[in-house]
Amino acid sequence: MEADVRSILKKLNIRPSKAFGQNFLTDRWALQGIADAAELTSNDTVLEIGPGIGSLTSYLAEDAGCVVAVEIDKRLVPILHDLLIGYRNVHIINADILRLDLKKELAPFMTSPDGSPRSLKVVANLPYYITTPVIMKLLENGLDAECMVFMVQKEVAERMMAKPGGKDYGALSVAVAYYTKPSVIMNVPPDCFIPRPGVDSTVIRLDLNKTPPVELKDRDLFFKVVKAAFGQRRKTLANALSNAVYLGANKEQVLKILGETGIDEMQRGETLSIQQFALLANRIYELRKESGIQ
Ligand code: SAM
Repeated sequence: MEADVRSILKKLNIRPSKAFGQNFLTDRWALQGIADAAELTSNDTVLEIGPGIGSLTSYLAEDAGCVVAVEIDKRLVPILHDLLIGYRNVHIINADILRLDLKKELAPFMTSPDGSPRSLKVVANLPYYITTPVIMKLLENGLDAECMVFMVQKEVAERMMAKPGGKDYGALSVAVAYYTKPSVIMNVPPDCFIPRPGVDSTVIRLDLNKTPPVELKDRDLFFKVVKAAFGQRRKTLANALSNAVYLGANKEQVLKILGETGIDEMQRGETLSIQQFALLANRIYELRKESGIQ
């Protein structure tokens, strides 16, 4: 496979684009491992982000009912059509994943030929320069996916899996825990790619929660509270939350809420569990309502 990727790039005179985060996966074990992690069946539609020259796409197309592959680099689109000509179940869209109306684009592919609905799975060897915005878009979009399997930078996988208390725990960890159950599938070294990235990589699977782990009165406000707490990591919670004017709570109110919810005002945001963030956000919601802010 390594020879395939190298010779395809050479033959077609394609220079991998740094700006588009192009590190093509060459290792069969890693490609098969990603496809296996998604546990694909003919009842699944896969959204693949960044098919590149189609190495992973062909593995996905073998097992899924249909693959919708979104690639930003227009140079690669005719190549993908050529290389994947044997797979009639692959649909290529030339677009920026961050600008696409995913629900609208995927709708025509969510029914099998017999009329039954298909399940959606997302699979990607992600371009590392936009990992977090892509994952946040997919999580917040209400796409109704069953699971997502991503190759990400190892450090990002650690942040996604992090529990309260450590330096890796942040807004991304809370979002992942709110929307999904994450699990690490495997680590992938740089020599499995062409060109070699300067970092180690990890394949992570996110199983989307059918019911969120906490009840929220206002999801946007919850994520604003999380953002405020982590935005000023070195500050105590009382200061970080009252400095965030967009929350609409002054220091006195913040101290009162922290007292009511049993959270120590000297604590830092990075020590709070998702349940404590929910308690705080729900209480701030009530306070804003009482003061006529919403
Ligand atoms: N899937 C291929 C593989 O495993 O070898 C390529 C993976 S490479 C790490 C990332 C791919 O994402 C590249 O093909 C790149 O052009 C594409 N890409 C980068 N930014 C994108 C964006 N905003 N929307 C869609 N695709 C993008």
